Amino acid sequence: MGQIVGIDLGTTFSAVGYLDQQGPRLIPNALGDVLTPSAVGFDTDGHLLVGRAAKELQVVQPERCVSAFKRYMGTDWTIELAGRRYLPEELSSLILKSLRQDAEAHFKGVVDRAVITVPAYFNEPQRQATMRAGQLAGLTVERILNEPTAAAIAYGAADAKAEKSLVVFDLGGGTFDVSVVEQFEGTLEVRASAGEVFLGGEDFTNALVARVLESKGLVFERVEAEAPRLVSRLRQECEQAKKRLSSCAETTVRLPNAQGEFPGQAPVITITRSDFERWTTHILNRIDIPIRRALGDAKLSKDDVHDLVLVGGATRMPQVVDRLKWLFGRDPVCRLNPDETVALGAAVQAGLIDRHEQVEELVVTDVAPFTLGIEIARDLASRIRDGYFMPIINRNTTIPVSRVERVYTIHNNQTYMEIRIYQGESRRVEGNLLLGKVTVQGIPRGPAGQAVDVRFTYDLNGVLEVEAVVVETQQKVMHVITRHARGMSDAELQRAIAAMNRLKTHPREEAVNRFLLRRAERVYQELPLGEREFLDRLLSAFEEALETQNEEEIVGMRLALEEFLNRVDSSGQDDHGDQ
Ligand code: AMP
Repeated sequence: MGQIVGIDLGTTFSAVGYLDQQGPRLIPNALGDVLTPSAVGFDTDGHLLVGRAAKELQVVQPERCVSAFKRYMGTDWTIELAGRRYLPEELSSLILKSLRQDAEAHFKGVVDRAVITVPAYFNEPQRQATMRAGQLAGLTVERILNEPTAAAIAYGAADAKAEKSLVVFDLGGGTFDVSVVEQFEGTLEVRASAGEVFLGGEDFTNALVARVLESKGLVFERVEAEAPRLVSRLRQECEQAKKRLSSCAETTVRLPNAQGEFPGQAPVITITRSDFERWTTHILNRIDIPIRRALGDAKLSKDDVHDLVLVGGATRMPQVVDRLKWLFGRDPVCRLNPDETVALGAAVQAGLIDRHEQVEELVVTDVAPFTLGIEIARDLASRIRDGYFMPIINRNTTIPVSRVERVYTIHNNQTYMEIRIYQGESRRVEGNLLLGKVTVQGIPRGPAGQAVDVRFTYDLNGVLEVEAVVVETQQKVMHVITRHARGMSDAELQRAIAAMNRLKTHPREEAVNRFLLRRAERVYQELPLGEREFLDRLLSAFEEALETQNEEEIVGMRLALEEFLNRVDSSGQDDHGDQ
């Protein structure tokens, strides 16, 4: 059995960590960063690029790259890259594989088990897709852990004996989660979780992109269709401007041309923090309802909350902090780096699974974030009406949990029953998400009212198992929701594993050089003509050194190129927010 790691598979960044005697630690990638951008691309030779190299390529050749695909996990969305269509879980598996290789380089040994985090509000198909991503990357997924729970573990592990109520507020790149956690006698008990899967820092960036285009009389959708490179480059500009506005009152954004380049006199737009806040208030307002719902479900008032923990890069925006201060009447705590907290918690959980002595005393319990149930028909004034939702496991029930409900046949001599399984909070099933079906056959003939017991078992990973028993005959039907209509069958999974393994990759030791080449090519496009020539000479000399594989020359040329790029290009430096 190989080493176990904890992985935060984020929308914008991912990170891998483990637990040692001193506590949780993150593992740097080949470029020395603990955060790897969740981006994938293919260079012109068809080689796979992951992380910062893919981000660099994305600026100049957006059609060869993809990021933020976590938003589509569990759906049938696909994207074509280098002649093949990829599902979100396949793209995620490429990130996981890259993190796994970083961990293997660190341990100089096999890493084949992982705890992977997901937003608490991820539904069943999204969790299943995350597990498949792990399998595709050659990892046994020991636990799917909710991100805010991981954050609470990261905070709780440092202070296991404390007794308090925490609200973990997690606003990442693409998702928003809020969890209420009680800590007592070495136990962390998640009492309630709520959130939104489509709310995060990316929405703030997108709003800024749309406003900048609007200020020039352009319409986002049209520009995106007609000049994707312009939008891709402008999004990067706006992403950085957004981050700068977290610490300055005013900044500027350059408007690229249709090719995504900045010719000599590119228009410059000034944006103030108050403009930005006004343009995005409608997005920020969406955090209020999940916060109220989580507190209500945990039966806690704002005054009962001791600590407000901030997680996720987007919590660096002052407007987010101000809104929370206003809502809770206190300052949030932010002892750990908000980009790293989830991965640190996942690392502690990995240690807990391995019964690491460092954390033996910490017990963690979590909840089911959604209500799970089945469709039933109701007899309304002697008319049978179907489409009603009968909850079996209510949202925010502590997991693991197993609950049974009895249902009855509605027709005489009914020998067959189809049980449709749903997730959601609506009274009628059309407002909820269909997870699967169980067909019960062989019900003995007889009058309507034959009983069938339906048992739902929800495990620690948030994976549901459904069992139906015909009460009279004790005949059983089992159904594990392993395959959503939009997921992959086992055969498809094996084929996808083989396809992922066939992808051409650069050796890990070349990662720094590949990244530098991509960065230099992006910077080349942005430089004034005079400096371009100089960069061209440096780049050619570096390529030549790589070609001849002369190690001394490679190192020398690499240093010269790096020095030049660091002088002329600031955007490649501040990718990680203002840490
Ligand atoms: P995460 O998924 O937790 O890595 O969060 C990434 C999100 O946080 C992205 O949308 C980033 O743009 C955003 N972010 C990171 N740093 C900052 C910052 N200093 N100000 C505003 N947003 C930030």
